[in-house]
Formats: sequence, structure tokens, C-alpha cells
Amino acid sequence: MEKHELEKKIRDIPGFPKAGIIFKDITPLLLDTKSFKQAIDIMADYYKDKNITSIVSAEARGFIFGGALAYKLGVGFIPARKPGKLPYKTIRQEYELEYGTDALEIHEDAIKFGDRVLIVDDVIATGGTTAAQAKLIEKMGGEVAGICFLVELAFLNPLEKLKGYDVFSLIICDK
Ligand code: AMP
Repeated sequence: MEKHELEKKIRDIPGFPKAGIIFKDITPLLLDTKSFKQAIDIMADYYKDKNITSIVSAEARGFIFGGALAYKLGVGFIPARKPGKLPYKTIRQEYELEYGTDALEIHEDAIKFGDRVLIVDDVIATGGTTAAQAKLIEKMGGEVAGICFLVELAFLNPLEKLKGYDVFSLIICDK
């Protein structure tokens, strides 16, 4: 199965969760055992020799890809969660939304100086969530060794917020 075959497993839902958004529904890809495996295998192939020490992903859909890839690469997994969800001491990073701000937290002992951390998510739209995770990793002395997405909404120019990082997207959407 080729990369462009994976794209056929992403379902566009216009108007969800609000008018003007075309939601990229990844659940058909997850349901298809060949496609989900293929997606994780392509990611693992790209990162297998890059000395990754751990993966950070944001709740909730990021966990699906980040968790599977961490297992495949044999590295640690670090959940980035909305405020108040993690039980131990946390480090927080706020980020801008279209209206207002939100924040992500990770456990303060999850990353140590010199760790080579990979950020993984299902979809990158504006890039705000990813940029917040990059700041968290760097605040804690880690290095952002790569950033990986199943789907990049290129028409929103998310990479503007991620200049200087190595970004790998399996599916690039121009509209
Ligand atoms: P971002 O705007 O890059 O910070 O995206 C925030 C999160 O929302 C990402 O982790 C995606 O999972 C999700 N997201 C944003 N836009 C879409 C979309 N059009 N389709 C599916 N998921 C989206």
C-alpha cells in the first residue's frame, strides 16, 4: 500500500465541529488494519535511525499514533494533557486559540537534559498545539528531534510556527 492509498482512508466532514471547518476524520484509517499498520510503519522507518529517546503527543488523537509509534520504536511515551488531568507535578505551556488561550501540561520528570524527543500528532492545522509541545520540551532541556503528522493541512501554513524543525507529514492537504 502506497502513501496516497492512505489518503483515501481519511474522511472529510465539512462543517464539523463548526461551519467553515473541514474535519479530517481518521477513524476509517484506524479501522483498516492494513492502513493503520502502514502509517505507523512509514513513520517508524523514517525515525528508526534518528536516536529518538521519547515521544510526546497531545490528547486525545495524538495518543493513538504517538503510542503505537513509541511501541514500534521501543522508546518512552509522554502524554501532553489539558490542565488538571495529570496526577503528578507538571510543567505548563499556554498557547493561542482562535478565541482565547488553552494550555498543555506534561509531568515535570518526563524529560531530562539531552533527551531527543519526537512530537507526534494526527493532524496539524494552525500549528499552535505542536508549537506549545515544542516549547515544553525545550523548557525542560530536551531537544525536539523531529515532528511527525499523519495529515498536514498545508493551506493553513502551519509550518510557519515550526521554522527550524524537521517536520515529516505522511499526507499533505492543499485544500
Ligand atoms: P492546531 O490548530 O494545529 O493546533 O490543531 C489542534 C488539534 O486539533 C490537532 O491536534 C488536531 O488533532 C485537531 N484538528 C485541528 N483541525 C483539524 C481538522 N480540520 N481535522 C481534524 N483535526 C483537526
